[in-house]
This record gives sequence, structure tokens and C-alpha cells, in this order.
Amino acid sequence: MQSDQAGRSGGAAAAPAGRDGSADRTEIGTLSVEVTVPAFRTHRWPARAVWAAALATFALATGCGPQRQEQQPVPGPMQPAPPHTAPPHTAPSAPHVHKPPVPDKPPEGVLSCPNQPGRRETAGADGRMLGHLPYREAPSGDLVRPPEGFATGSCTRLHADAGAALDAMLAAARAEDPAIADAMVGLSCFRSIKRQADIFCSKPQLSFAERAEASAPPGFSEHATGYAIDFGDRTRPECDLEACFAETPVGQWLAANAPRFGFVLSFPSGNSQGVMYEPWHWRFEGTDKARATFAQARD
Ligand SMILES: [Zn+2]
Repeated sequence: MQSDQAGRSGGAAAAPAGRDGSADRTEIGTLSVEVTVPAFRTHRWPARAVWAAALATFALATGCGPQRQEQQPVPGPMQPAPPHTAPPHTAPSAPHVHKPPVPDKPPEGVLSCPNQPGRRETAGADGRMLGHLPYREAPSGDLVRPPEGFATGSCTRLHADAGAALDAMLAAARAEDPAIADAMVGLSCFRSIKRQADIFCSKPQLSFAERAEASAPPGFSEHATGYAIDFGDRTRPECDLEACFAETPVGQWLAANAPRFGFVLSFPSGNSQGVMYEPWHWRFEGTDKARATFAQARD
């Protein structure tokens, strides 16, 4: 649940807003064209227009609000039909839309997405957000490139200590079975909190809780620490980020050997965090600093 669906969620659905906007404009245009006025009433129209324009000018000058519309006279039997009042009635409203200020970042312990300001989620007393523990982002100075030939385009940096352990583990795999070393691939390593936010907030059709089942909220992913690696098996790409990775040659080799190099399976089946089973997601705990980072996750 550390946003391991990132690779598959990269392409957000195309927003239909543009098409909807066109439809609105079409309706307005059609409305103005279809309106007809009986001939015997047309002599009243210029005076009516002047009155409405005066009302609109007054409303503008006085800092109009929603109550402005309530002040419009109700059309009587001898007055023009409502659509004729639309141009002076609606024209002043646009400049008076008041938008709430957008904060630079959400308050500590509060989850929100810029594209959905109405949705908020607050962390629990223990700091968890929808089951996920909080993690700081690793300083860029702590990060290094992954070993040559190991990573895909999505794994570009990881913590230097995890990188050194990975080097040693790959060397051991190559000495034992070169096919394992060749097949072992890094699908995702360090991920910035901003990148995590982009992933998490790109699924507005889902509730926060639904998203959290497959993606950690920003600020709550082990990948931000630089210590976490999502492994794959080049010979079984259909099992990337899937439970069947556990049955692949690389998955089985890691289960038997990764702990020797300081790696821990973060989310085994039935883990105490309640995160779904992720046999591909390993975190490095081979130093005191790394162990301290994940102390809460081990409790
Ligand atoms: Zn992961």
C-alpha cells in the first residue's frame, strides 16, 4: 500500500470539463436565439431594459451579493418573459465570485488534495493516516543512483545505505545464480512526497479510503525515506506489483536471502498495519538510522 500502483496510475483520466463547458455555452446560445416576444409588448422593452441596466449598475456600485437576485421584480402578466432580464441580471455576477484562499500546504496531519478542496482526512492520535504511518522525505544528499542495470525508469534514486546493501545482495545473487541477478529489477525506489501527492490525488473518482488501499497518502509512504524498493522479475513482468511475484524466481530468492542484507518485507500477509500483502515491497533496516525510521512500523 505504498503507492505501488504508481506505474499503473501515471496516466490520469482525461478531464471531461472542456466538453461540459462547451455544452453550457451552447445551451445559453440556444436560449437567447429561441426567445420570442409578442409584437404588442415590444414597445415596452426599451424602458424595461433601461430599468434593468440601472438596477445592475446600482448592484455593481454597492458590492452586490447573492441577495441582489432577490431584489429583481417578479414579472407580472404584462411584463416581458424572464429570459429577457438575463443579460443585465447575470452580467454583474462574474466579477463578484469570492474564492477562498488556497493554502501553500495542508496543516500537519491533515490530508487534502488541491483538486478536491472539500475532502479532508485527519490523522489519528498515533499519527496514522488511513492505516499508513508517517515518514519524512530523505534529504537529496542521502540519495544515490541505483546499481547499473538494476533499475527501470521509475527507480532513479535510493538511500545510499540501501544502495550499498543492494550492491552486496546483487553480487551474492550473481555468484549463486546469475539468472537471478539478471532477472532482478527495481520497479520503484525513492519517491518524493510531491510525487506521492500527484499519484494519490490523481484518482478523484475514488474516496481517500479507497485510494489508500493501493496508494499511501503523501507523507505516509516508506518510499519517501529512500529505504524502500519495489522489486520485479524480468522473466515474469505480469507479476509486477502483484501477489504472484512471491512465486517468481526473484521473489522466492528474496524471501530466502534479502533479510541477510538488512531488508525486511514491509507488508507480509496479515501485517499489523492492515496494509494489503505486498511481497515485492522491501525496506532496508540494516543501520541504526534506518531501524529508527521504521521503529513504529515494527511495534
Ligand atoms: Zn512499494
